[in-house]
Amino acid sequence: MTVQLNRWKTWAGAAAVLVMSLTMAMPTHAQTSDFATWLDGVKRDALAAGISQATVDSALSGLEPIERVVELDRKQPEFTQTFWSYLDNSVTTGRIERARRLLAENRPLLDRVQARYGVQPRFLVAFWGLESNFGEHTGGYSVIQALATLAYDARRAAFFRAQLMDALKIIDEGSITAADMRGSWAGAMGQLQFIPTTFVNYAVDFDGDGRRDIWGNLPDVFASAANFLGAVGWRGDETWGREVRLPAEFDWDLANLKTRKSIADWQRLGVRRADGGDLPVADITGAVIAPMGHRGPAFLVYGNFDAILTWNRSILYAVAVGHLADRIAGLGPLGAKRLADERPLRRVEIEEIQTLLASLGFDPGEADGMAGSQTQAAVKAFQRQANLVPDGYPSVAVLEDLRRVAAQKATAN
Ligand code: CA
Repeated sequence: MTVQLNRWKTWAGAAAVLVMSLTMAMPTHAQTSDFATWLDGVKRDALAAGISQATVDSALSGLEPIERVVELDRKQPEFTQTFWSYLDNSVTTGRIERARRLLAENRPLLDRVQARYGVQPRFLVAFWGLESNFGEHTGGYSVIQALATLAYDARRAAFFRAQLMDALKIIDEGSITAADMRGSWAGAMGQLQFIPTTFVNYAVDFDGDGRRDIWGNLPDVFASAANFLGAVGWRGDETWGREVRLPAEFDWDLANLKTRKSIADWQRLGVRRADGGDLPVADITGAVIAPMGHRGPAFLVYGNFDAILTWNRSILYAVAVGHLADRIAGLGPLGAKRLADERPLRRVEIEEIQTLLASLGFDPGEADGMAGSQTQAAVKAFQRQANLVPDGYPSVAVLEDLRRVAAQKATAN
């Protein structure tokens, strides 16, 4: 779990589903001094922050940076993800079956955690499955060493220095030794991949042995996740959302997380369940999202969806958590059809979309190969001008439309 890190990169690296292209930049450093001198400054800061000399010695003595960690931090995927490519890799039949079995095996514990923190067991097991494949992949890096490497590197130095300080606090409180503190290359730790700051604020010693152990103790693992979710507004009497069907005349300006309406209002606007039936009658609000645009699935998401996004800001991740939880509970696969011609775009194709949009007078932001909100807004403006469905989704079709319009413009000039 991270709020500020790009967790997607961590996941993609672990699952090895992407063809990665390594884009190495020259290492740059926050300080002109070498690593050992820099580390002396960290030791002084740690002692000044009240961390014991024993912890500073055990964790930071003789520490060396890890070159591989800097490489991983600079890696850029060649392909973007589509909703389907992400979902197919994260919610597999094997994972659903295993999740159901593990939920049954851990039912008494999960029920106790639910009674205390109000998070339904199926969601806790879904997070567990997506974060570490149920505790199987928790990361083999020394967290202190990885965080020191990233804190020394200039790219996100302040963020990782804060993580490093919190990691030292966790060792200092006696929850784990420096040697046993293992995690991802970016410092995500344990069975639910908490970063140190999240651990410090939300990890729980649920079995009461005096240690917050998110690596090896399931009561602590589940209670820590539930405590975090409860703190960010999880509602134990609501689900995450549901797949819906949008009407042909749907106003695409309404499809975003900020536009919240009552279920009754969405029903009046023509939104229906995926099978075409009426939406449920419940006094809650939700937002409509379509992560693959108008040719992909649409979802009506409730407040708990925002809590999942606080855990990890990726919309694809959040839908995967919700969908896996549904599948654990026995619901079926999504109803939306997959289209054979819809493939993931390459980064260079997103760059081309951005460049073409700019050449046509739209403002997609920097041509960086990443389709952020500014690029999506520019796609939408282009679609509107070209009389296309204005869903703002940068697809293969949008790229082809842009090429066509740009070519016409060049001919006209
Ligand atoms: Ca414990």
